Amino acid sequence: MTGAPVLVLNAGSSSLKYQLVVPGTTEVAAKGTIERIGEDGSGIADHSAAVRQMTEQLGAAGIDLATAGVRAVGHRVVHGGPDFSDPVVVTDAVVEQIRDLSPLAPLHNPGAVAGIEAARAELAVPHVAVFDTAFFAGLPAAAATYAIPRELAAQYRIRRYGMHGTSHRYVSTAVAALVGRPLAELSQIVLHLGNGASASAVQGGRAIETSMGLTPLQGLVMGTRSGDVDPGLHPYLAREAGLSIDEIDSALNKQSGLKGLSGVNDFRALQELRQAGDADAELAFGVYVHRLKHYVGAYLAQLGRLDVLTFTAGVGENNAELRAAVVAGLDGLGLSVDPDRNAAPGGGARVISPDGSRVTVAVVPTNEELEIARQTVALLDSSAG
Ligand code: AMP
Repeated sequence: MTGAPVLVLNAGSSSLKYQLVVPGTTEVAAKGTIERIGEDGSGIADHSAAVRQMTEQLGAAGIDLATAGVRAVGHRVVHGGPDFSDPVVVTDAVVEQIRDLSPLAPLHNPGAVAGIEAARAELAVPHVAVFDTAFFAGLPAAAATYAIPRELAAQYRIRRYGMHGTSHRYVSTAVAALVGRPLAELSQIVLHLGNGASASAVQGGRAIETSMGLTPLQGLVMGTRSGDVDPGLHPYLAREAGLSIDEIDSALNKQSGLKGLSGVNDFRALQELRQAGDADAELAFGVYVHRLKHYVGAYLAQLGRLDVLTFTAGVGENNAELRAAVVAGLDGLGLSVDPDRNAAPGGGARVISPDGSRVTVAVVPTNEELEIARQTVALLDSSAG
């Protein structure tokens, strides 16, 4: 049955991304994005209309969803909260649980719920929810716990959850195959650097640290998110600048990061500004790299030994200068890149450190949709007995 396609859906508040994946073969039969859901003049009133639009787009590409033998639909859900540490088959009760987690991910979970409900109404196959937090559900307690009053943490479900887990799991598994060593033996750091960005430390296939926290705001510098700041910044801004909680939340999530420092959130645009001699863009690059080194060093100490450092996602896969900057000066820790390997074009999984390096530095293109499709099939196979 692994030959049957799985439809992978990633529903946000105003967009629906879809991919028809054949898990056994890594083949992508079709993919697309429906945008501006619910916006005036878009013609896509809601997520149900978006699912119908997807069905039409697939039909135009010669794929009839009703007869294509789709085995299941796998849904990306950002926040699984304390409830979900593994993929689950979607039931009415599961939909309600995901909805209940919306306060923890107000920008993400409501869209996922709308997408799941619309897709369940249209497609009479099993639906599986795969959570972006799941890979980090087993973080050691000392890593997952914030040093705040324990009653508050318990009452409001406050802990470090981590996000991008589907990508960190996929990449940490794929790199073991690339270097030809058992996953169980490897101590690794994965840097997922896209619009959102996160780092993880993975020991024997198990995540022991990650840079995102209760929300996706913590950790690395991102396109528009600040990452780590002094928590005292929030009351300071409230008192001194008179900003409301919502204004502070928006400033740190939407107006900060590379955008806040340089005016642009896209890394390619940042590079163009730097090449034109823009000092703000140069500082933004410096802050971005500084934060990354900070996490590499911290995770090296948590792991005790490092075998592989892997770059992934839009910036990590494509920007050789950034990769070189992150490991610059870390030769003493066994970390370096071979300049030719690092700069060589080519999109596949590859090693970019010199032969014989103590730490292998690699680039592995992430594939969250394939990982969701695989987990969907694995869950259905195991529950089929
Ligand atoms: P993602 O969220 O993984 O799609 O990554 C988006 C980020 O990757 C944006 O900041 C892009 O500017 C960056 N990116 C994509 N392609 C390239 C490229 N060829 N060179 C540098 N950055 C890139």
